[in-house]
Amino acid sequence: MRAHLITYGCQMNEYDTHLVRSQLVSLGADIVQSVDEADVVLVNTCAVRGKPVEKVRSLLGELRKIKARRPLLIGMMGCLAQLDEGQQIARAFGVDILLGPGSLLDIGAALEANERFWALNFRNDLHAHVPPPPQGTLQAYLTIMRGCDHHCTYCIVPTTRGPQVSRSPDDILRELDLQLAAGVQEVTLLGQNVNAYGVDQGAQLAGYPSFAALLRMVGRSGVRRVKFTTSHPMNFTEDVAAAMADTPAICEFIHLPVQSGSDRVLRRMAREYTREQYLRHVADIRRHLPHAVMATDIIVGFPGETEDDFQDTLSLYDEVGYDSAYMFIYSPRPGTPSYTHFHDLPREVKTERLGRLVTKQKDWSARKNAAKVGTVQEVLLRGDAHEGGFLEGHTRGSHPTVVPAAHGADHPGIYSVRIGHATPHMLYGRIVDAQGQELPLMNGAQSSQQRPDAAAMVSPLPMA
Ligand code: SAM
Ligand code: SF4
Repeated sequence: MRAHLITYGCQMNEYDTHLVRSQLVSLGADIVQSVDEADVVLVNTCAVRGKPVEKVRSLLGELRKIKARRPLLIGMMGCLAQLDEGQQIARAFGVDILLGPGSLLDIGAALEANERFWALNFRNDLHAHVPPPPQGTLQAYLTIMRGCDHHCTYCIVPTTRGPQVSRSPDDILRELDLQLAAGVQEVTLLGQNVNAYGVDQGAQLAGYPSFAALLRMVGRSGVRRVKFTTSHPMNFTEDVAAAMADTPAICEFIHLPVQSGSDRVLRRMAREYTREQYLRHVADIRRHLPHAVMATDIIVGFPGETEDDFQDTLSLYDEVGYDSAYMFIYSPRPGTPSYTHFHDLPREVKTERLGRLVTKQKDWSARKNAAKVGTVQEVLLRGDAHEGGFLEGHTRGSHPTVVPAAHGADHPGIYSVRIGHATPHMLYGRIVDAQGQELPLMNGAQSSQQRPDAAAMVSPLPMA
């Protein structure tokens, strides 16, 4: 069997695709890099906004055409698969295998079945399942919890991924050990609300550490870098900032989605915090980590958002001075309270506001990145950039960074890089040694500061 996997959506989906891929490998499948080579194509889907749903629909249209010409098994997994909307799409496009986010371990049974196989259960054994580590990469994701106990009125995730279930600390640390043995140097802990780790459906689970305590354990494991996402402000506590400050491996990067700067909108979103409470968290973080890199998520044009509400979002952006942000136009999702009860704003109002917010974000990112010029940053270089002679990676603060390959440092790893040039979305630098001396460039490598497309390159942070 030759299987090809395609992933849409967040890091949690990336992790889940890896989990399914490793199941396939254990069943003897060859993983291939294109649909043309495959006899099974599995699509891991996202349902958070309308756009990723449309992408899945058009991909399935292409797959259906291929299937009309030759045998092909088509599988749909993940959030969209769990919804009526996804199941209607699956029927329309002749999907053979449908696995909800809680049924991924059914992939073996699905491939064995000689008929259409759909599974939508939330299997308990998924939480204790420890997939083998990813090979040949310095970076890994580690899911510490699944599902979500919040009910933000715009969000489909609690429906698609079910209630919050925290994985046991033993399973998490066992998976981490395997990742370390495989050479992983940066691990990102994943959950919809990592600050509520161990607090499932209102109760603290016996024997489970707080998230801050778990962070410290992971930080002391020997891994070089620890990141985490997503931090819900409602459950954020100062001890997380303290753990970040006193554990060197934990990166000084925090993704704290605010969604809106207006209390009225936050209430209508059921976010369970106010602007003032959010800003208090920011102050706590800055007290412990004055140079923390701050990122956020913002939804623009939530139903009923007035110009004054939007101005509150713009002023909050200035008050925090975010390094980066994921900005989304509100997308009405069938099955959510805001879809049922609120009226969507006109498209042109939403896009015009998004334009203004993006301008602000670029302005702040340009300022924050410019301040890094001349500094030495610790960069995890993942491998070749698109052009030969360059390596790309990211800082502890998740800034995408490009450097020319240098003698003695032409392979993936963690390096010191002196930043020589910055755009709103990219840092450019040269690798330096422990004394701060630049290493000689490899033959043919250009200085990254003179790279012809340096000013034009735009590469957003990896999607949350
Ligand atoms: N659990 C995380 C939290 O509460 O911050 C967020 C997870 S959600 C999958 C990722 C982001 O998608 C959210 O922070 C929100 O900004 C955005 N999002 C979710 N539903 C959306 C919708 N209906 N329209 C637009 N953006 C949405
Ligand atoms: Fe969605 Fe809110 Fe849960 Fe995040 S906390 S996954 S936005 S319901």
